[in-house]
Formats: sequence, structure tokens, C-alpha cells
Amino acid sequence: MDSARRDGAEAGEVRRFWRELGLPGLVDVHTHFMPERVLRKVWAYFDALGPLTGGVAWPITYRAEEDERAALLREFGVRAFTAMLYPHKPGMARWLNTWAVGFARRTPDCLHTATLFPEPGVEEYVREAVAAGARVFKAHVQVGAYDPADELLRPAWGLLAEAGIPVVIHCGSGPAPGKHTGPGPIAEVLARHPDLRLVVAHLGMPEYEEFLDLAERYGEVRLDTTMAFTDFTEKLMPFPRRALPRLADLGDRVLLGSDFPAIPYPYLHQLRALEGLGLGARWLRAVCHDNAARLFGLDGPDTAGRPATGPAA
Ligand SMILES: [Zn+2]
Repeated sequence: MDSARRDGAEAGEVRRFWRELGLPGLVDVHTHFMPERVLRKVWAYFDALGPLTGGVAWPITYRAEEDERAALLREFGVRAFTAMLYPHKPGMARWLNTWAVGFARRTPDCLHTATLFPEPGVEEYVREAVAAGARVFKAHVQVGAYDPADELLRPAWGLLAEAGIPVVIHCGSGPAPGKHTGPGPIAEVLARHPDLRLVVAHLGMPEYEEFLDLAERYGEVRLDTTMAFTDFTEKLMPFPRRALPRLADLGDRVLLGSDFPAIPYPYLHQLRALEGLGLGARWLRAVCHDNAARLFGLDGPDTAGRPATGPAA
């Protein structure tokens, strides 16, 4: 991290952003924490301009040790965040979930995150993760190169729908398409599990409008803002301006996500990019804090009836 970040200059500006909105802090539903050797591999991938980035240069702004990264989110005033972790092959999800239990224990402001993969035993380890207190799941259709409508996943989706546990899912075809990315396979999953609380990562980029269609059709589908509207993304996958009124109307189901720490710009830029949409302070308050606080019951019982466990700001 460069010195301006370390000396707290950026943190001051981030705090000013949410204070001016009258918020108690931010909730960021899309931050990456994972076992160190997996994280190093992911970073090497970004550094090497791999297919994950579509061959685009991707300097990682917050390359630091785990405790330093979590401390920085706290300095920003992020009340709650996630540990988006995901397997790229079978036999890995259970191990990641075990790591995530430990991370959640030592990081009380992290919403305990778990993951899954279409493989024998998935229903069992998803059930175990839920019993261990998982509050959110992450699925990565592009990196995992699997069909989310795979029969093997059906009981796991059913279980998560029943439990009301949100699943942040990278299913859009950006920055690079995968064999099963795009709205089609997800539409199949939702047709079977209409109550599943899918949070479409990155606003579904570049298929923004198709994923807005799904959110309008299914009341439990949400969208996270991760990397959307930033200068970086607008150059590669611009959000169609004609769809802004639809995004305004879905203001109670859009959630702040950032992709911290592997972002090619400062954290503040994501917030300013949202502000720059001109959708107003009410929309920003909902997106940057209130929607996720409600979904995860940070200030009272959530709709799944779980007690409030979120830390204070
Ligand atoms: Zn991500």
C-alpha cells in the first residue's frame, strides 16, 4: 500500500463520505479474504494479466498482510464485510469453509462466509457451514467453470433458499466470459428456487440489463455494485445509461460491494462512482449501508429470525 493510504488520508475521506450521508458506517458485501496461499495465487493471476482480467493491467492497490487489510476496512468505517472465497476445482470448498470458520472467529466484523462447488457431498458441507454460523455464501461460476443449474447443486440451493442465506454469485460474463456465465443458467436456478437470495456480483456486468430483468422478476434477487461505474470498468464494460431508472427503482436491493483488496484504484473511487450516478442521498444510504444492514440483521433481527450479531460502528 502506498504511504497516503497507510497514513490514514484516504480513511478520513471515506469516513467523511458516509458521515455526510448520516450513516453509522458502510457495509461491504464483497471483500476478499481467503487462505494466504490461495490469495497469493489469485494476486499472481491479476499480476500476470491472465484471462480472469481479460488481459487488462490490474495493479492491486491494497497488497498487504491479512490483519493490515482488515484493520484498513475498520479505519474506513466498514461495519461489516465478507470473506469471498471460492474453489476452482472439486475437493476444495470444504477446506475453504474450514478456514473461513477460523477467520470469522478471529474477525468478528466479518460476516461468516462459506462457499460451494457441484460435487458429491456438497449438500452435507453446506449444511455443516450453515450450522457453524455461515451468514453468506460465495459462488464463482467463471472461475469454478461449472453450471450453477447443475443437478448436484439443487439440494444446496434449496437449503440456502429455505434458510434465507444470501449467496453472492459471480455469474456475469465480465471481465471475461466463462462456459456457464451469463443470465441463462442463473435463470434456470431461479425458476427452481424463486426464493433464493442471490446477490448478483458486479451488477452482472456486462449483461447488466439481463440481470436487472431477473431482479425485477424475483423479489429476493439483489445486485452488488462491485467495480461497477468506476473509471476502470466504464472503459471496458460501460453501464447503459438508459438502465439507470431501473437501478433507481431497485434501490432497496442494491448492495455496496468493492472487491477490496485486489482493486486497481483506491476504495474511495467506488464510493464516488456511486455518488456520481446522481441517484440521490436516499439511494446512496440504502446501497452503502441500510440494505445490507437489514439483510444481515446488523441492527435487529433479520427476516430469517436470527438475532442481531453485528458489531457496533
Ligand atoms: Zn470479487
